[in-house]
Amino acid sequence: MQRYQFAIVGGGFSGLAVAAQLLQQVRQPARICLINRSARFGRGLAYGTNSSSLVLNVPAARMSLYPDSPDDFAEYLCRRELP
Ligand SMILES: Cc1cc2nc3c(=O)[nH]c(=O)nc-3n(C[C@H](O)[C@H](O)[C@H](O)COP(=O)(O)OP(=O)(O)OC[C@H]3O[C@@H](n4cnc5c(N)ncnc54)[C@H](O)[C@@H]3O)c2cc1C
Repeated sequence: MQRYQFAIVGGGFSGLAVAAQLLQQVRQPARICLINRSARFGRGLAYGTNSSSLVLNVPAARMSLYPDSPDDFAEYLCRRELP
């Protein structure tokens, strides 16, 4: 069986979104190598701060990662116990 290998440069939002899509869609054995400048994956420029003064400028309902699950981000936020 063919084994796919992917290299994604940049482990911010877009890189992790691509990795999540690949994990969901690739039906054969695959190896994903995520290359990031720092050890903090998923943070990047916009999400690298914990400042509560910064707010999303896109409605949560439009920030789903998966087209077939349009409410997943809003549902994730509802499940979290935010301070
Ligand atoms: C202040 C601010 C607020 C924002 N608010 C929103 C918002 O509310 N909603 C929204 O949708 N978008 C927002 N954005 C836009 C947001 O940046 C993008 O939606 C999204 O985070 C971009 O993802 P990205 O993966 O392209 O970049 P990033 O998430 O920044 O990730 C880039 C990654 O690449 C890595 N990298 C860089 N150079 C290299 C290299 N040479 N080799 C290896 N790794 C490297 C970095 O370390 C980082 O981890 C905001 C942006 C800013 C600056």
